[in-house]
Amino acid sequence: MQATRKEFIIALDEGTTNAKAVVLDSCGHIVVKFSQPLAIQTPRDGWVEQSGELLVEASLDVIAKAVEHVGAENVAALAISNQRETAIGWYRQSGKPINAAISWQCTRSAAFCDELRRENKEAQIKATTGLPIAPLFSASKMRWLLGSVPEGHRLAERGEICLGTIDSWLLWNLTQGKAFYCDHSNAARTQLLNLQTGQWDNEMLALFQIPRAALPDIKPSCGLFGYTRGLNAIPDGIPVMAMVGDSHAALFGHALGELGCVKATYGTGSSVMAPVQSAKCDIDALATTIAWHDGDRITYGLEGNIPHTGDAVSWMADSTGLSELSDAELAHELNTLPASVGSTLSVYFVPALTGLGAPWWDDSARGVICGLSRGVKRAHLIRAALESITYQIADVVVAMRQQDDFHLTALMVDGGPTKNDWLMQYQADLLGCPVMRSDVAELSAIGAALLARKALTPGSISDLKGFLTEHSEFIPDMVRHQRLQKRWQEWRHAVNRTLWKPASST
Ligand code: ADP
Repeated sequence: MQATRKEFIIALDEGTTNAKAVVLDSCGHIVVKFSQPLAIQTPRDGWVEQSGELLVEASLDVIAKAVEHVGAENVAALAISNQRETAIGWYRQSGKPINAAISWQCTRSAAFCDELRRENKEAQIKATTGLPIAPLFSASKMRWLLGSVPEGHRLAERGEICLGTIDSWLLWNLTQGKAFYCDHSNAARTQLLNLQTGQWDNEMLALFQIPRAALPDIKPSCGLFGYTRGLNAIPDGIPVMAMVGDSHAALFGHALGELGCVKATYGTGSSVMAPVQSAKCDIDALATTIAWHDGDRITYGLEGNIPHTGDAVSWMADSTGLSELSDAELAHELNTLPASVGSTLSVYFVPALTGLGAPWWDDSARGVICGLSRGVKRAHLIRAALESITYQIADVVVAMRQQDDFHLTALMVDGGPTKNDWLMQYQADLLGCPVMRSDVAELSAIGAALLARKALTPGSISDLKGFLTEHSEFIPDMVRHQRLQKRWQEWRHAVNRTLWKPASST
């Protein structure tokens, strides 16, 4: 009999709009990918949900295709990276969801969050969980889920209803209910985890009225979670060796969490995350979270989310008549227009289209375009929109500097807008540090696969360095860096014009 070489890792990247399965070979190269779109429902203003059953169906489907492509006997492990904060409840006996999965984007629990704020719980919650009160996080969504079915709370107390983030829901389904775990990174985004102990916190459970019996046990992001079993198109016995939130996985995929390597994902909005060694929760402008537990130790993360970055560019392109262009034509315009003018002519666009996120946190803020003069043309406005991305990212980095052990040696970037070379160079010059753009888009899948690889071949994190993907480097021009500091100050004045709560001009 020929010995088989279990050389492939299948990484599932279960996002908001797509479920993707990425197959990586023993050198860490991507062999093949399969993708399935995911539907999103918005039954009421501010409510966003997805069918839990369809999330599973699409995920199993892409995994099955990946397994078939390489042969089950050659698969060493499955790794899961998933959309964070989305919460789901299901009956332990039947495995049927009690309701839809409540999306991270959903604000249906906003009124309860307001109540918590009125009761002055913000400081206690931030100190324990590292997170501000917001309907984004899973705890208030889980509370809503229990209230949405008769006797939900009592059933949860008796362990007859399970509550989980999407990693635990997928694991449950991959193992036919045999494994009920979530990983530290997903647990850290529920607002029920005590960052210091790494365990569910009794006071938070009481505050959000979530019975412990309904929640999964928490495991390190890297290690054995369970084996596939009882599925139609996926053979039994494939081990799930990593689970991690997608943004955290991307941070790991860039540079394995090397201190100083800060990650910025540029998309419709942006997430900036820095690995740090301690869980300091007193930086108001940022969330503190667990980046991952690598089986040996926890790495913490400082995170700032910005709602409108690429979105600001889309808005400005639409508003200045570029909406008729094809995607390729638009990308060409966005890459060339800003360099066709030497500056914005002192125009600043603060894209607070639905408020400002980190580090300003003002839901009531609304956008401004200021500094308009006769000579201002479309190219100046497009440039102002692109510059606004870089200033917003840089403002989050400044807030991160309040943490004692924070430092920045390189900004590791991924996402659609990073294809714009002009934008990347401006970001490097503004921050005065190199910007490293990943040559591969699938960083969340790569990060999860690297965690699985660590679980399969125990060793230190640095043993994984050879598996990291290539980056293109944008080196800062330090003379331009000095010149741009004045513009960054002017940007801050523009931000002040959008705020209801005036910002300090630091
Ligand atoms: P998401 O994952 O949030 O859907 P993507 O990573 O696909 O986002 O990026 C989409 C965003 O990127 C859009 O908001 C778009 O305006 C912006 N974008 C696309 N191409 C460019 C470009 N060449 N320069 C700057 N921004 C761009």
